[in-house]
Amino acid sequence: MSITKKALSFDIGGTKTIYAIIDEFGNFITEKTKIPTPDSAGQILEMFKNISCEHADDIDAVTISTAGAVNIDNTKVCSSTPNLPSGYPDLNFKEITDKKVFVENDANCAVWAEHACGAAKGCKNVLMITLGTGIGGGAISNGKLIRGYTGAALEVGSVKIFADRRQKCTCGRYDCWESYASGTGLKNIAAAMAKTEEEFKNSLLKDNSEFSTFDIINGVDAGDKFSLKVFNQWQDYIFTGLVGLVNIFNPEIVVISGGMGKFADAVQLEEKINHESVVTPVKIKHARTGNDAGMIGAAILGLRESGL
Ligand SMILES: [Zn+2]
Repeated sequence: MSITKKALSFDIGGTKTIYAIIDEFGNFITEKTKIPTPDSAGQILEMFKNISCEHADDIDAVTISTAGAVNIDNTKVCSSTPNLPSGYPDLNFKEITDKKVFVENDANCAVWAEHACGAAKGCKNVLMITLGTGIGGGAISNGKLIRGYTGAALEVGSVKIFADRRQKCTCGRYDCWESYASGTGLKNIAAAMAKTEEEFKNSLLKDNSEFSTFDIINGVDAGDKFSLKVFNQWQDYIFTGLVGLVNIFNPEIVVISGGMGKFADAVQLEEKINHESVVTPVKIKHARTGNDAGMIGAAILGLRESGL
């Protein structure tokens, strides 16, 4: 075994699981392998066991980036995980292997990856916002990951940004930030504006009965006025939630990641937030570690920060 420690690092998602061997500095030692996520909790545990057994001679630890809140010992998921099979939060990840096992929430892993080797390298105070179908977040304060009382801190998608709009969120509540500023939010805005805005009549989207985020972003790229109006409203909603978070966390940098995050206008957000926040300056940048963030962050956190 070499001096540089290595982890077999997994990123488990609702449909696919990706894994690779990664060293304590975030370097990939092997290629990534992508496999379908099994449809039962028992099979998921078997999958982790089998792959870990295969690589046992080459690794110091098994690290896992997962959806859901993770307990303070980094051994168990302790919240519901709607995109994974029932029984998944009850799994005891320690059963996977005799080696050390480290489990962490995917957004926490991603903010750590950006802090260690991405857009926030060298910054000790970092806020990360992941804009996808929903909104997730992670934060580092003075070089430490903020985990909260139960490990569930930074559920930023559920921050309420209105009291009375009655926009239903996927969590069953109303007016959460993610029902306005996520990919789902972008579609909600288009559906609402199609009923009220004149520009819709001449829009490239006028024949659509439903709007995909793809249609709207394509419309923006083509200079379609309706799509631009929808996009600008979306960008305003991103700003509305973010300015509050910046005031709370006083980050040196905000990293925007996720499938929808790449479409957000970071330059405009940076300018506006530095104007409207009372805790400035703050930089706003796009993430650099992309889809590998979860795996990289889990490996570095597990090998270097958890005392393994
Ligand atoms: Zn919600």
